[in-house]
Amino acid sequence: MGKVKIAPTAGFCFGVERAVKLATSALEDSHGLVYTLGPIIHNPQEVERLESRGLMMANTMEDIESGTVIIRSHGAPKGILEEAQARGLEVVDATCPFVNRLKERVVSLASEGYQVIIVGQADHPEVKALLSFVPENSLVTMSIKDLKKRGDLKTRVGIVAQTTHSLENLQRVASYCVGVCREVKVYSTTCQATNERRRDARAMAKEVDVMIVVGGRNSANTTRLSEAARQEGAVTHHIENASEIAELGISPDSIVGITAGAASTPAWVIDEVIEALESILS
Ligand code: SF4
Repeated sequence: MGKVKIAPTAGFCFGVERAVKLATSALEDSHGLVYTLGPIIHNPQEVERLESRGLMMANTMEDIESGTVIIRSHGAPKGILEEAQARGLEVVDATCPFVNRLKERVVSLASEGYQVIIVGQADHPEVKALLSFVPENSLVTMSIKDLKKRGDLKTRVGIVAQTTHSLENLQRVASYCVGVCREVKVYSTTCQATNERRRDARAMAKEVDVMIVVGGRNSANTTRLSEAARQEGAVTHHIENASEIAELGISPDSIVGITAGAASTPAWVIDEVIEALESILS
């Protein structure tokens, strides 16, 4: 008989839950227009739900003439908060406290004269915002191979990781730098919420026939959860919502594990996926 298992850590992390709550309160309390600077979370269904309640998305500050601007959990580049206040906008800062702590770390490393190395994705909004606070010689890297190729490593480096990046990769890059630099300072800035979800996905992938990872396709976090499950050898599907379950061809006697992205998947989307799966499994 088939069965659904749900990872204990599936779904929203503290930082994203907080951002969605702050956005919901702003929509209830504000008398003017309410914007987010970029999508508030990487999940089209949740963004649509909030948009149906009046939330609007702006790509730049120039797109906002009046009302309230919500800074999402990834934070914002240097000067954005001040610019919003100077333009008379109401600011709701939903930057995750862990992202703020990471920002403090990179600023302190730069002020101590270290070349800042951020292990993460250069095009991720959190990393783009961080780069606006550090000198130009700072680096963003995903791998040792990339660092070797670039050849612009200084002798004193300060290393951090994007909050949703893997701890293992931070360790690999730090260990490489210890071998080739004179002085290395490392802050372990990967978020526990992400590490726990990845650990649970790996453990669950070993116990089930099929893994379903629920979350936005534009969510790096969810994509990495799928990779973690796949690395354990599980047949893994990354889906956004329950409407995709039918076409996966899951056999009724399968043991199916479900997990979901920390920053992209609300509980109601997970519940709909569970319901759709339970109707297939006998
Ligand atoms: S994944 Fe971690 S750092 Fe990112 S928003 Fe969630 S709690 Fe904050």
